[in-house]
Amino acid sequence: MKKLAPTLSVRRGRGTAYAWIDIRGSGEFGEFTEEERKALEKFGLSYCRNHTNISPDERRYYVEKAVKLLGIKMPRELEEEYRRIDEMKKEMRRREEERRKRIEKCQHVFIKLPYIVFPRGTAYRCVKCGYEKIELD
Ligand SMILES: [Zn+2]
Repeated sequence: MKKLAPTLSVRRGRGTAYAWIDIRGSGEFGEFTEEERKALEKFGLSYCRNHTNISPDERRYYVEKAVKLLGIKMPRELEEEYRRIDEMKKEMRRREEERRKRIEKCQHVFIKLPYIVFPRGTAYRCVKCGYEKIELD
């Protein structure tokens, strides 16, 4: 971001907003200059007169965009962090898929659970696959 508009103020948020990235302009009252606005638009960041930010969830998107836009290399640390996150997500999807298949193929053997079901019903769990269901009275 700073490479496109060096005058932009790009900082981490304070306190609990630490993971957020705050972006402010260099004009009077922190307003964005023409050049700064262009840089933000290039990144597809919407902004108000003097402020915009990037949430923790959006960060990766903008980092990857910056890498592409500026033709630079992804910092090694980030590259590894993102790779770890991708692997974790893949593993979670794989497990969820496995669980779904196990439930699908299972010849369920239900036991009654001691839950009170609102308004009136009974909860069951399969002892083989862990699938739970509720039957209303
Ligand atoms: Zn089952």
